[in-house]
Amino acid sequence: MPREIQIANAAGFCFGVKKAIQKAETMDRAFIFGSLIHNPQEVARLASLNKKIVHSLEDVEDNRVVITAHGLDINVIGRMKERNLEIIDTTCPLVTKIYNEGHKLEAQGLQIVIIGDPKHVEVKGIASRMKNPIIVYHEEDIQNVPEGSRIGVVCQSTLLMEKFDRFVGVMKARCAEVVPVNTICKPTKDRQTAAALSKTMQIMIVIGGRNSSNTHKLADTCKMNLPNDTYHIETAGELDPKWFEGKNKVGITAGASTPDYLIEEVISKIRSYDELVPA
Ligand code: SF4
Repeated sequence: MPREIQIANAAGFCFGVKKAIQKAETMDRAFIFGSLIHNPQEVARLASLNKKIVHSLEDVEDNRVVITAHGLDINVIGRMKERNLEIIDTTCPLVTKIYNEGHKLEAQGLQIVIIGDPKHVEVKGIASRMKNPIIVYHEEDIQNVPEGSRIGVVCQSTLLMEKFDRFVGVMKARCAEVVPVNTICKPTKDRQTAAALSKTMQIMIVIGGRNSSNTHKLADTCKMNLPNDTYHIETAGELDPKWFEGKNKVGITAGASTPDYLIEEVISKIRSYDELVPA
């Protein structure tokens, strides 16, 4: 009997990344500034189509440049303008919304706190637009938020929902006023919620780049329910038929940077085990 394979109802590319890639694909050649997506296979595919990801303005060998869905540090954009580069801006509207929420909090006289990875291009982009932001990544970073201060909190769009609530709770105990605006985007929330599929499956395959933080977070969520039967892979080639022995219910999810073709390859490989490995 064929195994039951269920794909999480929110998995793979989010609309922001999809739109950015489609835009780059319409160009003959493109220099894409920063990490468009955290998926090595898709990055290689784009490179084969003459779409090059660069991390420094010196590497842009054209008079135009693409800003990714995650946005960019406003000072770097300033340098692009000084060089008279044509800027193709694919910043996701849900990232722009974080900038706007931050400005609204600042207008209320609040100190901005950003929960997120300070090395991530999106967090750098948000921070560069605020007056004097404090970035909090680990719980101990909350010590840098002055006691008794009045703060407005926003966060990276791909943060774990549980982390936002937990950190805000700690900050409430130390600050005079905390105005939290949860800026985790809906596609991220949907993917995190959909990982609950792992509650009803016997094995979970999580597909996505090893450099993709949102894929790691999905795998962590699945591991809470299936600590020994959750596997994070990048491609179908990493699947091991032994994992599927005696497993009849297979769940699949994928990070926001995982293209559909990689998901489809994984599904067809697992299908090929139906005859080979007893469920
Ligand atoms: S993860 Fe969310 S904010 Fe980021 S590009 Fe996708 S939809 Fe936009």
